[in-house]
Amino acid sequence: MIHHGTVGDAARLLDGRTVTALTGAGISTDSGIPDYRSPDSPPRNPMTYQQFVGDPDFRRHYWARNHVGWQHVHRTHPNAGHRVLADLEDRGIVRGVITQNVDLLHEDAGQRTVIDLHGRYDSVICLQCGRTISRSHLAERLDMLNPGFVESVLDGGTTVADIEVAPDADAVIAKTSHFKPADCEFCGGVLKPEIVYFGENVPRERVDRAFALVESADALLVAGTSLTVMSGLRFVRRAAKNGQPVVIVNRGETRGDPLATVKVDAGATETLTALADLL
Ligand SMILES: [Zn+2]
Repeated sequence: MIHHGTVGDAARLLDGRTVTALTGAGISTDSGIPDYRSPDSPPRNPMTYQQFVGDPDFRRHYWARNHVGWQHVHRTHPNAGHRVLADLEDRGIVRGVITQNVDLLHEDAGQRTVIDLHGRYDSVICLQCGRTISRSHLAERLDMLNPGFVESVLDGGTTVADIEVAPDADAVIAKTSHFKPADCEFCGGVLKPEIVYFGENVPRERVDRAFALVESADALLVAGTSLTVMSGLRFVRRAAKNGQPVVIVNRGETRGDPLATVKVDAGATETLTALADLL
């Protein structure tokens, strides 16, 4: 049984309680980052970790698209939904945010406690030596290895925003066969965005910190995710098991709905804004 409710019901439940927030792609759609799991999004096959590590051609294609697409994420700005959660943290209501997004918009909005569950788009890790470098530094190296590539993709009036850009900064480009990816400058190993892909586990230490953040608050507020992957759903299960109230705000069904104390079927930005006014 699902307990559908209004923003008012959610506010009454959360009134006087501290809250940990769990967010997904739905909170970033108003910043222009598409949610590829929402019902009206085009079908898309997300890359798997196995494809990335196992196939150099796939990797080259991935980096070529990423080299164009990441600049779009780089230029996006937080929206009212992100700002509301940062304000609620300042007011002592929100303890922190666990996000499934890699866009860093919570940090940009001034959120102090953020766990980037699935990693961050602005960092790259070497799979061999484990060193990390910034995505900006890699962009400079890729530009040197591939002079004129981004311009050649974007010529003819196409802009980065016109290219299909997925939440992991993946843009669709057909001709990538001549693209030269970069290897680790320290050991020659394979570089990978510091993002958790399908088929890859969230590092245990990060999961433990997220469980601790859930348990540090009285209640869990889920916003803008359908909880299709276990990496997010497990926090809803833990809160429900602990007897912590769970509010889910999402347009459409989520896998956590049967566990929610109140489910508000609506968009994240407008609902969070209305909710903050009532708290
Ligand atoms: Zn290395």
